[in-house]
Amino acid sequence: TSDLVIVYHRQPYEEVEEEDGSIRLRENTSPNGIVPTLRSFFADADHGAWIAWKAAEDTANPEFERQIEIEDAFGRYTVSRLPLTPEQVRGFYHVTSKEAFWPILHSFRERYNYDPVDWPNFRQVNWAFAEAAAAQAAPGAVVWVHDYNLWLVPGYLRKLRPDVKISFFHHTPFPAADLFNVLPWRREIVESLLACDVVGFHIPRYAVNFVQVARSLFDVETTGRVTVEEALINEGTALTERSMVTGLLHEGHKITVAATPVGVDVSYIDTCARSIETRNRMASIREELGESQLILSVGRTDYTKGGAQQLESYERLLESRPDLRGKVRLMHVSVSANRNMEAYAEIQSEIEQVAGRINGRFGSFEWQPVALISRAVPFAELIAYYRAADVAWITPIADGMNLVCKEFVASRVEGDGVLVLSEFAGAAVELDAAITTNPLSHRAMDMAIAHALEMVPEERAERMKRLRARVEAYDIRAWGEAQRALLDWTNKGKRVPA
Ligand code: UDP
Repeated sequence: TSDLVIVYHRQPYEEVEEEDGSIRLRENTSPNGIVPTLRSFFADADHGAWIAWKAAEDTANPEFERQIEIEDAFGRYTVSRLPLTPEQVRGFYHVTSKEAFWPILHSFRERYNYDPVDWPNFRQVNWAFAEAAAAQAAPGAVVWVHDYNLWLVPGYLRKLRPDVKISFFHHTPFPAADLFNVLPWRREIVESLLACDVVGFHIPRYAVNFVQVARSLFDVETTGRVTVEEALINEGTALTERSMVTGLLHEGHKITVAATPVGVDVSYIDTCARSIETRNRMASIREELGESQLILSVGRTDYTKGGAQQLESYERLLESRPDLRGKVRLMHVSVSANRNMEAYAEIQSEIEQVAGRINGRFGSFEWQPVALISRAVPFAELIAYYRAADVAWITPIADGMNLVCKEFVASRVEGDGVLVLSEFAGAAVELDAAITTNPLSHRAMDMAIAHALEMVPEERAERMKRLRARVEAYDIRAWGEAQRALLDWTNKGKRVPA
């Protein structure tokens, strides 16, 4: 059994099939480093365990081992792979999580679709995760559960294993009560979260919303609100002044609610950005651009990311500023993650339409105003674009954190470059030295991009210096330390001061 159990729907390694049919485990290359950071927690555990799912046709007899042992730089740990049928995956992930929860979490009430939800299926899948975690946990172990698709796990786990410590981290926003309470399963979800010892979010606003939701549904007492620095002052943990913790008391059970913003792997990005490959690649991008300014926009194809609204702002820019035609280029990277989902296909074609219209209206043989990229750009290449760009234009309509903007800042090793950032990205709380803008306002969007293109070098350097200080101070390691400190703190039975 394990003293630390991580419950995260993806496996810690990607499986790649070799030509001879054998399976090799490949480092999960997700550049934001969440998966490697989670794995690094095993270094402090006597033995770790990880619970994920894996698609199986026959769940009674899956064609893979349900449990494998992994040994890496962080020690040995067990990975339990829950076999789920395609219907289970569709029901729990694509329907319930993406069609019902995702729009509500991101405040897109009109996209919320609850009719196709098969709630018993969602419960069943969450129950399976809870059972697997219970089977792995040593007495008094810490079980760390991630994200809204596993919302019911803490409640089930508490019933199965009253002895374990449960921590839950949300990687998304968390909306206010009048929106969250649209979910007919609100009581069941929140009751499950109230079975946790720690409930974590990226920024204080989401944590405050959660407290408000909990109080609207249950008899919950709050026990003071302090910054994480104050609470962890003796633990020697550095956190931004934007972090906070608060305490809740529900039926005699204490819950710590904390906001600790996730960061990027600054030292890894720094090394990548300075590499000779990146510098060569960057030089060829700049050569191709000539005197033009490069505006870079990177995100998933999702209505929350505001891709079409941004392209429309770019169209208005070229319309109202003929002097910029031929002098700017927009590289708009919009990667489809869920091609088979209708909502995403719709957004994709909307983006293609606006981009095509802009190129048709303003482009020429020599000059293409927008380069639309729908395939995922490998991270090493992305870094070269981050370094080559004059402006990063990151304007989601709602985003739990947004790591792209932090990666851009971390890549700017020369201390230059402009970041235009939506005030609705969680990252805007820390990155207030960016030009912040409101993606729902034409005027705000248009003014922000015009300002970015005209910013004088002194202002650029001054803002970038402040941005870099924030991104460096609160990188992925600091997030990891904060999580560890909160767990230790809860383990010692400490309470938020009243
Ligand atoms: N990303 C990438 N290639 C692409 C587009 C995105 O590697 O073509 C990465 C990007 O570097 C970032 C992640 O995908 O680490 C997106 O994370 P973010 O938090 O910005 O948004 P999410 O997709 O998680 O909502």
